[in-house]
Amino acid sequence: MVAVAYGCCICGEDIDEDSHKLDPCYIQVNTNMSGDEEEQLEQGFFCHYECFKGKMDYDGHLNLEGQEEYVAGEYLRSGKYEKAIALYEKLLPEAEETEDIQNILPNMIQCYKQLKDIAKQNASLERGLELCSQGHESAGIYYEAAAAAYASGDFQLAKDYIKKYKKSYEIEIPEDSEERIEYVAEEFGANLALRLALDKDESVRSACSEWLDHMSDFVPTSLDEVERYDVIDASIQYLRDADLMYRLAESTFIRSATPSLEFGYRGLAELMRGNDEKAYQEFLNYKRIFREQVENHGEDFEKVWEDLKSNPQEIKDFAIPDNDPPLAVLVDQYIDKFGK
Ligand SMILES: [Zn+2]
Repeated sequence: MVAVAYGCCICGEDIDEDSHKLDPCYIQVNTNMSGDEEEQLEQGFFCHYECFKGKMDYDGHLNLEGQEEYVAGEYLRSGKYEKAIALYEKLLPEAEETEDIQNILPNMIQCYKQLKDIAKQNASLERGLELCSQGHESAGIYYEAAAAAYASGDFQLAKDYIKKYKKSYEIEIPEDSEERIEYVAEEFGANLALRLALDKDESVRSACSEWLDHMSDFVPTSLDEVERYDVIDASIQYLRDADLMYRLAESTFIRSATPSLEFGYRGLAELMRGNDEKAYQEFLNYKRIFREQVENHGEDFEKVWEDLKSNPQEIKDFAIPDNDPPLAVLVDQYIDKFGK
């Protein structure tokens, strides 16, 4: 596949990529690890996996084989669904415990959903629910069942599944773990979407306000932490609540996560208040600061902007209906209309 020939630093032969599924390997030597940093040198070499393993005094700690599930999870996270599902379809029949099947199925359902293979998505969900009914309950399966019910407009059923989801993750996932925060956030997001779908706007309004009370000074340190709360801005936008939108815009959360978004959200708030001229000014600032951010990263602004204007390709669970076009489209509309 690759034109470059890799030579093995141990046996001296070329490394045929088909010889072992983990080949070619790359090993890195770092010198003077206990000494001064200035003296620490590093150099890398290609080798056969088997050659390296064979040279080791004890290979019991070598933990690179049998990691397909980990690799599949990485493919799933990075949106390479074809590659992820190919691995999962191989792993599922090999799963020995029902618990393993219940862990794999929700990931497969996610892949099928993104690949729009509805038949396989439904079949996997049914299999998971069947196992749940036999006593092998799984938070992941209940979440997928709730998301499917929400997508089909059966909000009461979705609510029931979210309750089961909560009960299961409280058993499965240790409290105070990073993973638990993830589960709680997903439940929070699902509940907001469901309450909006069931016309409980006031309860969502107060939930967003409480969230701002608790979280507006929080400084997120990862993209995951930011995306976890996308549901807040989607809810506020859906409610068209200008005051909440302003609070969100001026929160430390947004200012530290995406500085340009402060102005995007201010623009949305002004738009909700019917102040089109002010909205235009904020949107102009938003686009200018966003451009600076993108160009500082060495990226092509026009391309990034065009991507933002097209609708997202990913299918989101519990997506809150958005009555506005994507923010970048709205911004350009205002710039066209008001920019003299
Ligand atoms: Zn070799």
